[in-house]
Parts: sequence; C-alpha cells; structure tokens
Amino acid sequence: MAACVRTYVLDDQGLFEGLKAYRAANQQGSYMLFRPEENARRMQHGAERMCMPSPSVEQFVHAVKQTVLANRRWVPPQGKGALYIRPLLIGSGPILGLAPAPEYTFLIYAAPVGTYFKEGLAPINLVVEDSIHRAMPGGTGGVKTITNYAPVLKAQMDAKSRGFTDVLYLDAVHKTYLEEASSCNLFIVKDGVVATPATVGTILPGITRKSVIELSRDRGYQVEERLVSIDDLVGADEVFCTGTAVVIAPVSSVTYHGQRYEFRTGHDTLSQALHTTLTSIQMGLAEDKKGWTVAID
Ligand SMILES: *Cc1c(COP(=O)(O)O)cnc(C)c1O
Repeated sequence: MAACVRTYVLDDQGLFEGLKAYRAANQQGSYMLFRPEENARRMQHGAERMCMPSPSVEQFVHAVKQTVLANRRWVPPQGKGALYIRPLLIGSGPILGLAPAPEYTFLIYAAPVGTYFKEGLAPINLVVEDSIHRAMPGGTGGVKTITNYAPVLKAQMDAKSRGFTDVLYLDAVHKTYLEEASSCNLFIVKDGVVATPATVGTILPGITRKSVIELSRDRGYQVEERLVSIDDLVGADEVFCTGTAVVIAPVSSVTYHGQRYEFRTGHDTLSQALHTTLTSIQMGLAEDKKGWTVAID
C-alpha cells in the first residue's frame, strides 16, 4: 500500500485576498477589476509580516486576470452580482518545526456572488462585542491572514443567533474604541464630518475604506482617521461599513450593553451616494477619472 504523504505546516503561514470582477457595462465580453494592484501590494506587505515570499504585483494581477478569463462564463450578468476572486498564499511542504515553511503555494479561487449580507442593500444591525477581540496591538489584525476569522466565529455566530447581522469589535486594551466589523471597516458621519478608525495595526486597511475616504473628500467632506469611541458612535448621524464583499452597507442600528442606537439610512445619506458612485465606477457605468479600474478583454 502506498503511503499517503500530506503536506503539513505547523505555524499557519497563510494570507488571503478578496476582489471582484464585474461584467463591463458597455463593452460586450469585457470584465472590470477594481484596484487589483492594491490587493497585490497588501499581500506583499502581509507576506513580509508572515515571513513568506510573495508574488510580484505583475504576477498577482496577471494571475487574477487569467482566473477571470478562465471562468468567464461564471461572471454574473450586469447588475446581478460579480465573480468573487479569492487569492491565497500559504506555506506548504513537509515541516513540523516552528519555522517558515520550505515552500509556498499561491492559488486563486473564484465563485459567482450576489450581495453579501442577506439583507442585500438593506440596512444592517450590529452588536458591539466587548469580551472577544479580533486583534491586539503587535498582532496581525492589520494583515489579511487566514487566522483572521476563526477566533471571531463564536462572537459572530452568537450575534447572528440573536438576530444581528454582524459584530463590531472594540480595541482589546481600553475596550472603548471601535475597530471594525468581522470583515468590513467602519465609518461614522456627524455634523457633516466623516470619521473612521485609524489603521494602527489592529484594523485591516481596506481598499474600499481607502477609496471611500477619497470619494468622501471629493464630495467636500472632511474625513478624519482617528480613534472612534463608543460615545462618538452613539452620537453619530450616520454609520456605515465598507468592504469588497459588502461594498458599502448602511448601519441602521448598533446595540451596546443592551441599548439600541439608531442611525439615518436611505435617501439623502452619504452612504447611499457613495454606494452609487463607487459601484458605478466598479461596473464601468461611470467614467473612471481616478484610474482605479482595470479592464480585461
Ligand atoms: C478584507 C477585510 C476588510 C475589507 O477590505 P477591502 O479591501 O475593502 O475588501 C475589512 N476588514 C477585515 C477584517 C477584512 O478581512
């Protein structure tokens, strides 16, 4: 009987990325990627932290393009969703000791997706978690590692069973400052000023976050990247989350210590205006003045 050799890596070196390919609005048979070089650079930065070699920006973007073309029949029609692309960089090869892996595997999954939360574009309801934390200073909360989600699954499942859409995490040191939701960044709007937690190592630097900061400034808003406390949140007019999967999700309520706080959603909100602007650029419905999109023919 042949021995079955499994590659085994002890120390969980692994990074993931996430991006979407849309069918281009005007050109038949053409697809659009949104800022894929940013994903490539984020993977390189994460690889440095995790002691892994990583693909070059060119290799990464080329591989993503090839994946879209090979799966073109799975890209949903315009307006119906996107092809979600999930690059992975993982340590592989036979090693049991605590050391970087002897070899690495870069691979890409793809799957057609609709909208992320089951409410779709409807407002979401969050609950603040103050015993389970997703990141700590000096840890890897600012890196898209494969270990980002397993430690928070319990908090997320408890929240879902109580009817909430997702969890808002607090900083592990003071339990006062908001960090982000399980897989998306947080923004608040108060008296026309936009604020989002600064990316100081415990917050994932989202590409949607970065784009939304720029688009908000373009609309004339002052945007502050700073500490955002529970008190700031409670007094906000508008709250929303951003990420590739959710795009921009308006938050209608946040529950903290059993108290439910409500926020403006719907017409005449900044999140709705930003959602329209961002998705129009991503799908090729609006002119991309920033050079954010990459077409694949
Ligand atoms: C991927 C991710 C985000 C969102 O990043 P985008 O680049 O906007 O998709 C936010 N928070 C966490 C924890 C993430 O893993």
